[in-house]
Amino acid sequence: MRTVEEHRAALVGLVSALPPVTVGLTESLGRVLAADVVAAVDLPGFDNSAMDGYAVRSADVVGATPASPAVLEVDGDIAAGDTRAHVLRAGASMRIMTGAPMPEGADAVVPVEASDGGVSRVALTLAAEAGRHLRRRGEDVRAGDVVLRAGVRVTPGRLALIAAANVPDVLVLPLPRVHVLSTGDELVPVGLPLEHGQIVDSNGSMLAALIRAAGAELVGVGHLADDADAWRSLLEQVPGEPDLILTTGGVSMGAYDTVKEVLSATGTVDFVKVAMRPGMPQGGGVVGDRRTPIITLPGNPVSSFVSFHVFVLPVLRALAGLDPEPVTTDSVASQGWSSIPGKVEFTRVVVDADGARPSGGQGSHMLGALADATHLAVVGAETTEIRPGDGVHLLPLVGEDSSRGHR
Ligand code: AMP
Ligand code: MG
Repeated sequence: MRTVEEHRAALVGLVSALPPVTVGLTESLGRVLAADVVAAVDLPGFDNSAMDGYAVRSADVVGATPASPAVLEVDGDIAAGDTRAHVLRAGASMRIMTGAPMPEGADAVVPVEASDGGVSRVALTLAAEAGRHLRRRGEDVRAGDVVLRAGVRVTPGRLALIAAANVPDVLVLPLPRVHVLSTGDELVPVGLPLEHGQIVDSNGSMLAALIRAAGAELVGVGHLADDADAWRSLLEQVPGEPDLILTTGGVSMGAYDTVKEVLSATGTVDFVKVAMRPGMPQGGGVVGDRRTPIITLPGNPVSSFVSFHVFVLPVLRALAGLDPEPVTTDSVASQGWSSIPGKVEFTRVVVDADGARPSGGQGSHMLGALADATHLAVVGAETTEIRPGDGVHLLPLVGEDSSRGHR
């Protein structure tokens, strides 16, 4: 029997990092930068006004107050987007709008609120000192500055910075492309009537959702009956040239465990028992001419879900060029529970301000309790009892608000 760590290492060893890809700015949202982003321009790109008002030489408004305004001629308007080179005469002002370039010679702006709004001549009631209401060229960012480091995820705010820095494309980590295959004669697509003995292929939907929520790309979701020939022909040519194939079901000890039967015969996929609960039957290897990595997850929905977090997430991280080590957090048990000896148990738990408690029925077929869970508590093989107040190690669930996600 393998340990969880041994099996994780074996699966991570099947893949290597995909090359980073260049994407346009819009597409970069949510992606992790694979290279530093360097500003192409100064921000601001030119000295400009922070207010609608009057560009002045500060020396011309010294001592201006409402009782004794400075009266200046107005030499015209400068709107935002004006590309002409204006020069401000001594003793004059120019009406200027927010974001418009400052005329040469001006060193301050008097806001329109501190004026009589004049257009040929204006009375200014504020003694704006040099630099008042100005945005200086390069005060935010200098051309050539690294504005974002490789490894950070592009959020809307960072995307705005990249755009303002006039960088149209960025190098990002690839989204691993994953194909999901469910197996079993009993499975029916969601929404169709079920006959006695049939169930919905919920794992197909679940794994597709996990892949998307983990920031990978889903290239296909298929279903195959427990039919060896169908499996053989599919594996010869998996559509979409995925970077990873995930199967669910057909890997336990039953008579119709076709995935295991067909893939064992290839000699390139290993089927093993892992000392964990749920999720003991596991497998992985490579298939087809392209030697596509494949991970065969168990069919029980909860086993499949847990296995995704424990084994597939690290493989997706490795494919994306990230450290595959799972991100864990710590909490304390707000309620006790028991655990079997000899296997690592992944208890579905709800974590709130009081700590972690089991989220309900823990059977590997029980989806009700799974839907409430926020984390998996990782209970060591030697631990048989968790008492209230004990420290617990947690794997955040993908897509949970509290989760830091796959990257
Ligand atoms: P298997 O590993 O194929 O023996 O399946 C183990 C259990 O998981 C059985 O109860 C199956 O009906 C169930 N199961 C297998 N695949 C799926 C699936 N795609 N969606 C929901 N349940 C499944
Ligand atoms: Mg089956």
